[in-house]
Amino acid sequence: MRAARIVEPQKPLQISDVEDPVPQGEEVVVNVRSAGVCHSDLHLWEGGYDMGDGAFLKVTDRGVRYPVTPGHEIAGTVAAAGPRAAGYSAGDAVLVYPWMGCGRCPTCRAGSENLCDEPRSMGLFRDGGYAEKVLIPSHRYLARIGGLDPDEATSLACAALTAYTAVKKAAAASPGFIVVIGAGGLGLMGVQIAKAVTDAEVVCVDLDEAKLETAKRMGADHTVHSGAGAGPEEVARRITGLCGGKGADSVIDFVNAPATARTGLSSLRKRGTLVLVGLFGGKLDVSLVTIPLRAITIQGAYTGSYADMVELVGLARKGVIRPRIARRYGLDGANGALEDLKARRLTGRAIINP
Ligand code: NAD
Ligand code: ZN
Repeated sequence: MRAARIVEPQKPLQISDVEDPVPQGEEVVVNVRSAGVCHSDLHLWEGGYDMGDGAFLKVTDRGVRYPVTPGHEIAGTVAAAGPRAAGYSAGDAVLVYPWMGCGRCPTCRAGSENLCDEPRSMGLFRDGGYAEKVLIPSHRYLARIGGLDPDEATSLACAALTAYTAVKKAAAASPGFIVVIGAGGLGLMGVQIAKAVTDAEVVCVDLDEAKLETAKRMGADHTVHSGAGAGPEEVARRITGLCGGKGADSVIDFVNAPATARTGLSSLRKRGTLVLVGLFGGKLDVSLVTIPLRAITIQGAYTGSYADMVELVGLARKGVIRPRIARRYGLDGANGALEDLKARRLTGRAIINP
């Protein structure tokens, strides 16, 4: 089979023939119809994360081994199953849950494999979906998608799933105003999900006017353009004005760079919650007394659970959420897809159809 692999960080992906996977035990092989291109694939391609002050966290120090096939948003059909795999037959349309952990620890057994201390996520710690076929460690990580368009289904495994986790954290205090920073693959899903599952007014912030127009079409009540030289505090003043003058009940930062996190903190009302999701990275200076005096919560959100992914499949099948596809590429176009994402030329999710 053919696969597009990162052989070395910052070098073009190699599109080459690799051995076909053969399922053993509970394993299942899926024929990949669609693989979503997440900004996290770009961080993997770049080799790690910006920790601020010139420091860089290498993914190899988190346990990644190159060469690796990226792609954690995978939809397709079952090709073959190992002798102990149950519940699926060849040809079944499925979405892959990619955030697998050890499967045995208390966190995994409570249903939060995405938060396991020993992550085994697909497209990161094991080969993912930028390939004609992919090996899934167990039938337990598949979900049926029925007649859902596989291109649209891919987002439900990461972009929508992560947004769902973040919106639940943001909505914990029954908010009136939720601010979504970043109108990319995740942020646009954040806007849609916040409108679908809360009664909050949603303010969306991005550098790019065209993306904000799309955010409005996907349900945003207000938008704030943060480009053109406006500093983080000026952007926060505009957001606060839109949120009734007191500020936002919650801000979800799908970028999480110094400027956006600063805007997020300064846009919060008293008792507000800042949910950090993006991995753009960098550092932030925080005046410590403001946190207790304003009773602010700062928390992180990392992907989501299998159960939430299945719930999202249900919402998508009912048409409540509808992921937006930016562009489709063949496997040979994998480098172009990552370049287009990096240059911010895409609105919504790019899809690779191997
Ligand atoms: P994307 O490239 O599709 O979208 C990023 C958006 O942010 C774009 O619309 C861009 O215009 C906007 N943006 C960039 N810099 C900005 C700034 N300074 N101010 C305002 N807007 C800005 O990316 P994505 O796939 O949506 O992923 C977003 C981030 O979330 C990435 O860092 C990704 O790795 C991370 N991520 C985190 C998780 C998690 O579980 N925490 C899961 C998936 C992705
Ligand atoms: Zn992702």
